[in-house]
Amino acid sequence: MYQAPLPQEYADLTIEEADARIENVKRAMGSRLVILGHHYQRDDVIKHADYRGDSYKLAKDASRHPEAEFIVFCGVHFMAESADILTGDDQIVILPNLAAGCSMADMANLFQVRNCWKQLETVPGVDTTRIIPVTYINSAANLKAFVGERGGTVCTSTNAPTAVAWALDQGDKVLFFPDQHLGRNTGVKLGFDAEADMCVWDPFKPLGGNTPEKLAAAKFILWKGHCSVHQRFTVAQIEETRARIPGVQVVVHPECELDVVEAADFNGSTEYIIKLIESAEPGSKWAVGTEINLVSRLSNELPDREIVCLDPLICPCSTMYRIHPSFLCWTLENLAKGNVVNQVTVPPKVKHFAGVALERMLTVCA
Ligand code: SF4
Repeated sequence: MYQAPLPQEYADLTIEEADARIENVKRAMGSRLVILGHHYQRDDVIKHADYRGDSYKLAKDASRHPEAEFIVFCGVHFMAESADILTGDDQIVILPNLAAGCSMADMANLFQVRNCWKQLETVPGVDTTRIIPVTYINSAANLKAFVGERGGTVCTSTNAPTAVAWALDQGDKVLFFPDQHLGRNTGVKLGFDAEADMCVWDPFKPLGGNTPEKLAAAKFILWKGHCSVHQRFTVAQIEETRARIPGVQVVVHPECELDVVEAADFNGSTEYIIKLIESAEPGSKWAVGTEINLVSRLSNELPDREIVCLDPLICPCSTMYRIHPSFLCWTLENLAKGNVVNQVTVPPKVKHFAGVALERMLTVCA
């Protein structure tokens, strides 16, 4: 989305000046304001957050504050949408920089997914009433609504196996979007074969680049999307790290490719990675395949463990990085003056069906 340039006064702020002004607004607004910070935010932003977490945890944290008039989400666009869906109609959700999107979420849009569904309706041996759509929480609200309207569910990287197993109980196959890797890793975890049971849907090719026979046989139709951060990790990096750091344990996010997940010692969501390393023995050694701000923070907060990033060239999420302290300061000082800037709103009909899909996830994965 388009973000107007910051007024010069804010663009010129030092980090220290921005810090002081942000904290002033927080003190003045008290419980009227809740600031959420995703784990992948830089330290200069996350230090101002009332809550830290992954996208789903933060949306739930927001929903526990019905008294807050303003929820400022230091994350990316789809996360602010999820917070708007899960909070009250009278609460205002704000994204400090509207250009903070998610490149993976942007790889599937409603037009493309509807077009995919229409094409699937024409394939002999495919019955779309028996396809259950499952969308990763990293997706636009209108895709969550698409899924909610068609009996499907949302999933997170934590609960994907439960959500997908449930979907396969409801129908013959799953259309999983937008992350092919989470879909494939989940299918393999459930005992399916990555070749025989799965195909990839390329939205830029007729029938997604598949034959009708392949689509009819597949249990999983995986959208051709990926995370630009997690797709950077490789098996060669794991081998090199093991050779360089004897005794190192490797943990990666399930948005990584299947061969990387299979070569690692552990895999799981950001919350899983944090808990795993926090509960590990002092002196243990870890190589982590996820976003660098989280890895650096773990390393700083747990100095008695050796914690390195698997990618030596460093891998920040460039869209998360667009939330600069100056944008946060600009947003908050406007709120304090009664000007709402950068509000993220989900239209009521979309909100309804996206809410259905999120509620279904809560029920299925409880
Ligand atoms: S790390 Fe990947 S999935 Fe997460 S917000 Fe960034 S681009 Fe999107």
